Amino acid sequence: MYDFNRCKLCAKNTAVPTYKLKNTTIYVCAACGFHFINHLDTMPSNNQSGEDRILDRKSYDYIEGKLIANGKELAEKLCLVKKHHPLHQSHSLDIGAGAGLFSHLMAEEGALVHGIEPQKIFREFALKKYGISLTGETVEDSYWQQGFAGFFDVVTLWDVLEHVNFPAETLAQLYNVTKEGGWLFLDTPRRDSFFYKMGEWSYRFSSGSNRSIFESIYSSQPFRHKQLFTLNQLTQLVEKVGFSVISMNASFFKPQNKMILVCRKPLM
Ligand SMILES: [Zn+2]
Repeated sequence: MYDFNRCKLCAKNTAVPTYKLKNTTIYVCAACGFHFINHLDTMPSNNQSGEDRILDRKSYDYIEGKLIANGKELAEKLCLVKKHHPLHQSHSLDIGAGAGLFSHLMAEEGALVHGIEPQKIFREFALKKYGISLTGETVEDSYWQQGFAGFFDVVTLWDVLEHVNFPAETLAQLYNVTKEGGWLFLDTPRRDSFFYKMGEWSYRFSSGSNRSIFESIYSSQPFRHKQLFTLNQLTQLVEKVGFSVISMNASFFKPQNKMILVCRKPLM
């Protein structure tokens, strides 16, 4: 059982419950200012037979519809990756690969793709639609840490860091599987954004009764948002892990409040 007084970013025992939501509480670290909720996901085991959702016609159509909505954004992300590293014959790893669309786009460019997706229903979809076999083991697993140490030219982490249980550990594990001179591309919602500030103000001015913005950001449901970084917290963390930040794209007023970081593992 994790003690949520221990900050998930700086590891000091200085986090305090600050914003109480319906089913969860946002902890704020007094030392580093990190915000995270008191919920962790339990990872489905790979051979779990009782996983409740199965890929039937209805869920297949639903996932396919979602992909169409995401297609434009992922095509832009593909351009960003291509701009930095040639994809033909490159080894790529997509974390939180979902239904496999980004892996598919990378494979079309000639990349040798690997992808991690903990939810079986999405792995089944990716296999059926694209013929791409995603892996259920998450990146901390020895399958990756030992089997693929220093292996990948390109690692992508689209909308994942806000979902994982322990983001600092996840980034360190990614560093380990990235080749020297290899690239890490990531995006995640930004906490120092106008939208989030509105959430804090409306909570405070209503003495905690107006939580609708926070309820839309965080959730204790499986695989939902558990933490948000400020731009400074995120850049400092990736640099602490060992990556160099090559470029960033973030704005206080940006729609969806996303920040995009391009990072590189230095050559030794
Ligand atoms: Zn902290």
